[in-house]
Amino acid sequence: MSQPVQKAADSASPYTGSDDADAVLRWGLSEYSPDVALACSFSLEDLCALHLMKQIRDDVRVFALDTGRLNEETYECADRVARKLDVEIEWFFPRHDAVQTLVREKGTHSFRESVENRHECCHIRKVEPLGRALKDLRAWITGQRRAQGVTRTETAVVEIDDAHGNMIKLNPLATWSDAEVWDHVRKHKLPYNRLHDAGYPSIGCAPCTRAIKEGEELRAGRWWWENPEQKECGLHFRI
Ligand code: SF4
Repeated sequence: MSQPVQKAADSASPYTGSDDADAVLRWGLSEYSPDVALACSFSLEDLCALHLMKQIRDDVRVFALDTGRLNEETYECADRVARKLDVEIEWFFPRHDAVQTLVREKGTHSFRESVENRHECCHIRKVEPLGRALKDLRAWITGQRRAQGVTRTETAVVEIDDAHGNMIKLNPLATWSDAEVWDHVRKHKLPYNRLHDAGYPSIGCAPCTRAIKEGEELRAGRWWWENPEQKECGLHFRI
């Protein structure tokens, strides 16, 4: 069962349909293709969204950000997903000069020293490349869900993304529960990141993600040394 719906869509959005994931994606793909793409980190949610998109049309677009610090398991998952769902992944990379300067000046693990340093690394490795990925799009699709943590409880199925020039942002799985995500993955035998079976419900860069303990919230393993209300990388919120 879905969680109670807080709002089907951002009040300023052009979408007036239901919060059903298929309905949201049908509307978004018909309205914005080919200028709409899924931002894929190969999370379970992203796999569900991509699978649903491919049921609607074959020519869907998907991009991924290679931060240079991903787990080997994530690359393996990317290859298996591309084969299984027959998609070509548009990879984006950080600017090498920015990474080189960061590492030369602050070392390889500066993100552990302060929130500001962590934001700097996320900006160089994620936020700036995301800006390039979104530059020629009119809408983007994410796997964000309200149940993922305190920073995401207000996620609407369709939003005006003021962090990215007021483009349209679709979060078709916003109301899905953890169980619904896993049910969809299992039912359709989607290849998923092996780290999920090792206690990692949310997977980001290798040095900034750990397995969680029983009872911890889903994103507790992301930047675990920080305050829970700061646990975003700037992809979905301004930081
Ligand atoms: S998650 Fe960690 S390693 Fe990845 S970009 Fe952010 S601070 Fe850097």
